[in-house]
Amino acid sequence: MNIAILSRSEHLYSTKSLLKAGRSRGHDMEVIDPLACNLTIKSGKAVLRYYDDIVNDLDAVIPRIGSSQTATGVSVVRQFEALQVFSTVSSQAILNSRDKWTCFQLLVRQQIPTPKTVIGNFYGDAEGLLNQFPDGPIIIKLLEGTHGNGVILAEGRKHALTTIETLESLNARFVLQEFIEESKGADLRVIVVDGMVVAAMKRQCAKGDFRSNLHRGGTAKSVSLSKAEEQVAIKTAKTLGLGVCGVDILQSKNGPMVLEVNSTPGLEGIEKTTQKSVSKSIISYIERHYKL
Ligand code: ADP
Repeated sequence: MNIAILSRSEHLYSTKSLLKAGRSRGHDMEVIDPLACNLTIKSGKAVLRYYDDIVNDLDAVIPRIGSSQTATGVSVVRQFEALQVFSTVSSQAILNSRDKWTCFQLLVRQQIPTPKTVIGNFYGDAEGLLNQFPDGPIIIKLLEGTHGNGVILAEGRKHALTTIETLESLNARFVLQEFIEESKGADLRVIVVDGMVVAAMKRQCAKGDFRSNLHRGGTAKSVSLSKAEEQVAIKTAKTLGLGVCGVDILQSKNGPMVLEVNSTPGLEGIEKTTQKSVSKSIISYIERHYKL
């Protein structure tokens, strides 16, 4: 099959891993930079050019859309969908998961547990927002942050109040969230492909931090999930319509809680930690779609 990875660079670990996995199965693999695609709609037909060449021979695309290119990347994925090319994550599913609030609004409809979360309002009532939480530490986070950037642990009310006022003055979109203290700076990263858990790791934050992101110096180890954790991850992927995703779960005293969902999970940390090839699982997913 002809498979393209929609990625900014063929030198990124995840892109290289997918190229290798596809080639080892005998597929023709290429990388398409979504920012170099030209999209046309003409005479009732969608056309996609990569630089100057018309692309009309692909069977599947694997989107690896970074958060800074969401609008363009999603538009390119949608164009491929219009061309009947199978995408391992749909354009709509990428949008469903990209902003943490939209994601939570979709999850709550299926009663998927998440930490209590309140969206920042637009009329500057910082006190009113904070009154919805008990005194004590609280999490404040930007809606479209990644890699732990834009996540703040406000130790007390005064800190929270000044942080909210600052974000409001910047017109930033943010949420307030219950701090799940008992997770002790750890979370689970679960990779779901085609409705199945294919790899899972537990990430622990670096000393002095509360964020377990590997980009922030967190460490990781392979983990076996409880039945409840596995079910929550699978249900989350299904609810958001994601064929491939990373589901981040906090282990709270009330059971697993979904923290966020990533439609472009980094593959380096999970593959190296678990010694499992998520890339191969993604290629097998495409093959199953075409029943090879
Ligand atoms: P990002 O999308 O930037 O990774 P997250 O919402 O996943 O942001 O938060 C980053 C990390 O901060 C999480 O992996 C977790 O370790 C910690 N964290 C975030 N929210 C909470 C919370 N409500 N309670 C406890 N820890 C949290």
